[in-house]
Amino acid sequence: MRAAAAKNIDLAVIGGGLIGAAIAWGAARRGAHVALLDEGDTALRASRGNFGLVWLQGKGLGAPPYMRWSLRAGRLWQDFDAALAEDCGFDIGWRRPGGFHFCFSDAELEGRRRVAEQTRSAGGDIDIEVIERAQLQKDLPRLGERVAGASYCSQDSHVSPLLLLRALHLSLRRRGGNYRPGFPVDRIEPDGQGFTLSSGGERLGCDKVVVAAGLGGPSLAGQLGIALPVKPERGQIVVTERVAPFFPYAANNLRQTEEGSFLFGSSHEEAGLDDGTDVATAARLVRAAIEVFPALAEASVVRVWGALRILSPDGRPIYQQSPRHPGAFAVTCHSGVTLASVHALDLGPAILAGRLPDDVRTFSSDRFHVQAH
Ligand SMILES: Cc1cc2nc3c(=O)[nH]c(=O)nc-3n(C[C@H](O)[C@H](O)[C@H](O)COP(=O)(O)OP(=O)(O)OC[C@H]3O[C@@H](n4cnc5c(N)ncnc54)[C@H](O)[C@@H]3O)c2cc1C
Repeated sequence: MRAAAAKNIDLAVIGGGLIGAAIAWGAARRGAHVALLDEGDTALRASRGNFGLVWLQGKGLGAPPYMRWSLRAGRLWQDFDAALAEDCGFDIGWRRPGGFHFCFSDAELEGRRRVAEQTRSAGGDIDIEVIERAQLQKDLPRLGERVAGASYCSQDSHVSPLLLLRALHLSLRRRGGNYRPGFPVDRIEPDGQGFTLSSGGERLGCDKVVVAAGLGGPSLAGQLGIALPVKPERGQIVVTERVAPFFPYAANNLRQTEEGSFLFGSSHEEAGLDDGTDVATAARLVRAAIEVFPALAEASVVRVWGALRILSPDGRPIYQQSPRHPGAFAVTCHSGVTLASVHALDLGPAILAGRLPDDVRTFSSDRFHVQAH
């Protein structure tokens, strides 16, 4: 029999992406001794390949608890951004100019009106207005002729996702947390007083554990009796050279970064675990962006990348505590940028206290009626 690993860690978080890092930093801010364990560069990592939107419009239609959770995340972003800047000492580029969803036909614009109406009648305070072309052009004089209008939500924002991730890792370390890239966890064993995690020959003991390992999560969560039915969905993103700033807003299919590059995104493709790119998809993203702003045809494309979203069957998050092993949790969602604020400020401290926030109880994986494996 192997000796139990020495235990001085209050919370071990498996997965150093945006979800795990936000939870880990949130718990460390409460004075906990936290370890953040990550597989490393060969893993599939959505947090390093996303579009960087903190997006509320249209979120949680038909699912009021998800709408409320997203709204809370949006409201917490200002405090989150300030607290993170204080810990890490740099600006992560979070800006809240509002976000546009551009439409190319009256029918599409009508669809956005319905989204705005449904959001209003769901009682969520996500405020979406529909703007006709003539009005929109006053704000955006470079608008392409085919744009019929847009919906706009002043609560939408955007951020540099890489700076956000870097800030979380650095801030965790500054709070005394232990970030260990290159620590792929292969076993989680409940040991009566907590859990023992194994990575190859190395073992680590902790009081509580969170599986936030993205597409690597299901097999780890299965060891705790938690089903995590997630599948990958590929998104490709095109990056242009830097151009003089002219579009400070967030938008569904393009945004200009603080450095000046435009990002055009993102595709939605079933490609299994292939996170590659292809010219036809990139060309489609470029054409869609040029329809919005024809002047972008002058900007050279410098890069295209692909990354894999982590999707549950209904597209909503999963937050679950193990019924068999209290103190063990699994978390996944497909809006890890948007929800980073609420994961850090609400979820991390709650998990440290051994529970899930009341707001997320309906996001249990029990709703899918699938077995853990
Ligand atoms: C193209 C694209 C665009 C997107 N755009 C947006 C957007 O605009 N706004 C938004 O809110 N969200 C967006 N998302 C979603 C967002 O990126 C994800 O929700 C978020 O990154 C998920 O974070 P995560 O920590 O769960 O996953 P990941 O970033 O995948 O992290 C999981 C981590 O777990 C680690 N891991 C796996 N197995 C193990 C193991 N056995 N042991 C230790 N570590 C392990 C991996 O190394 C990895 O770092 C987008 C995603 C994609 C792909």
